[in-house]
Amino acid sequence: MDRYAVIGNPIAHSKSPQIHTAFARQTGQQLRYEALLAPLDGFADTVARFRAEGGRGLNVTVPFKLEAFALADRHTARAQAAGAVNTLAFGADGILGDNTDGAGLVRDLEANLGCALGGRHILLLGAGGATRGVLLPLLAGRPASLTIANRSVGKAEALAALFAAHADGSALAACGFDALAGRRFDLVINATSASLADELPPLPPGLYTAGALAYDMMYGRGHTRFMQAALADGAARVADGLGMLVEQAAESFALWRGVRPDSAPVLAALRRQLDAG
Ligand code: NDP
Repeated sequence: MDRYAVIGNPIAHSKSPQIHTAFARQTGQQLRYEALLAPLDGFADTVARFRAEGGRGLNVTVPFKLEAFALADRHTARAQAAGAVNTLAFGADGILGDNTDGAGLVRDLEANLGCALGGRHILLLGAGGATRGVLLPLLAGRPASLTIANRSVGKAEALAALFAAHADGSALAACGFDALAGRRFDLVINATSASLADELPPLPPGLYTAGALAYDMMYGRGHTRFMQAALADGAARVADGLGMLVEQAAESFALWRGVRPDSAPVLAALRRQLDAG
């Protein structure tokens, strides 16, 4: 059987084995997908061993996405733009590095949540790896504007400068949280890691237009603090990042196997499982 895995540290919590096993069953693909713990100083060695044992591909998660980028021989355009890799495919001609996080987010927004990006005003909170990974696919949706806001303003400004060439008619800008006062957005995406510590980015009130969606990349049981605060501030609807997780996995699966799985039943099952605690 073809072998795949998700590699990270820690990794025991990962839902990727469950997602890919469900995709394989659904599409009739013969493969085994496991969770692979790599020592913090042993990413490349662990990858090499997995590949030597016949591994065909890996998903890469925290903290190895930059090392995975360095390890790949070739990159897709979206991985090149992100400067980070979450998917490795091993072939006779070397290692291909891809980044499916942004495509996963955009697919969740557009296909699952019915949130079109074209002509919209988007606020992206955070300027870390997740933001870097989603900027190109978000800009490809041709929003009217895309504003990156971050605690450390310089990091947001650096990203806006780096992606300026891809803005293609969208107004791409960067600022701190204070500078958002008085501005309103159709879509606000929380790509900070604040929710992981049950914290909130310090946002001014009145951020949401009528009908606006607030999206937290973090997911879990019930609403995150960001989702609760967004509803209180007037967001019409909220969503967490579980759909992004399943959609980035579907994108990786399609790259490896050439078959696109139906993500809807897998997402629904994961949601039921999360809600049941
Ligand atoms: P990074 O560590 O690279 O970046 C963290 C970002 O969060 C920085 O911009 C940092 O600001 C900001 N931040 C951290 N704490 C706070 C706070 N208390 N208030 C305001 N800003 C804060 O993390 P990633 O970009 O890799 O991940 C971000 C989030 O996205 C995580 O929650 C992760 O779980 C989620 N994610 C979800 C995915 C999914 O499939 N659903 C996929 C990938 C990521 P500063 O620069 O000032 O330090």
